Amino acid sequence: MTAAVPVVPGWRHVSSGKVRELYVPSGTDDVASATELLLVASDRVSAYDFALEPPIPGKGELLTRLSRFWFDRLSDVPNHILPATSGGTPVPAEVAPRSMHVMPLAMFPVECVVRGYLVGSGWAEYQESGSVCGVALPAGLANGDRLPEPIYTPAYKAPQGEHDENISFEQTVELVGRDDAEVLRDLSLRVYSEAAAIALEHGVVIADTKFEFGRDADGVVRIADEVLTSDSSRYWDARSGNRTESFDKQIVRDWLSANWDRQGTPPVLPDTIVERTAARYRELIERLGA
Ligand code: ATP
Ligand code: MG
Repeated sequence: MTAAVPVVPGWRHVSSGKVRELYVPSGTDDVASATELLLVASDRVSAYDFALEPPIPGKGELLTRLSRFWFDRLSDVPNHILPATSGGTPVPAEVAPRSMHVMPLAMFPVECVVRGYLVGSGWAEYQESGSVCGVALPAGLANGDRLPEPIYTPAYKAPQGEHDENISFEQTVELVGRDDAEVLRDLSLRVYSEAAAIALEHGVVIADTKFEFGRDADGVVRIADEVLTSDSSRYWDARSGNRTESFDKQIVRDWLSANWDRQGTPPVLPDTIVERTAARYRELIERLGA
């Protein structure tokens, strides 16, 4: 069974994402009027747009550690973390390790995906059209190949319960206007390249990743949500040629593809898959020193 939404003293639960729970201070009406938010990561694991059973023990805490690690290292890019010194509503110790105390942002409806390697839905699209999200690529690339340079392949962030949809850069211009579309693209490419270089020093490849951005009350565009976690990114072992030895939930995706025809409810994950996934998350944290 999925665990109930945790009760967090001082905070009121307002919504559930696929993985995170969103809280505003008790006494605040909604996110729009809040000056602070609490994002609490659950142990839920999702794949192919389904929340799976059972949860992965410790996942929420491990992924929060990864986000913090990257927010610290990429501190020249504005993000949504409220500094510990900013005061506000205290974060209770029992949820602190899997929580982020953040600024409420007006989120852009764009999933800002950057790909350094051709894999997954990018590989599928390339095989059909020779391009990904309108970005033309050289002929003759194989599954898992490194791209000549990282590419920005945005997706429309569909409302809860619907599939996100790959779109072209020009479609993001229609959604958010040219100036913001360019800011999102340029920040995404810059952060990916910086992070990929740092990861490589630790023997880890970031094959692709997804960012979410929002605008604060002063108009500043900030990175929101999680960043460069193994849920939002494909991490591979740089020392192994074997891409299936990934540090992300590929283990879960692979098991599902082999054991489920994508009709109806997905099957319950076996203990061995749950344990192997948790162990891979821990190994990535150790590699990066996060
Ligand atoms: P997924 O990340 O798997 O595509 P999701 O983003 O809908 O799905 P979660 O990440 O679990 O699911 O939910 C977190 C929610 O909180 C998202 O809707 C995200 O856009 C929102 N969010 C994150 N940071 C902020 C912020 N600083 N201000 C306002 N909303 C935020
Ligand atoms: Mg999210």
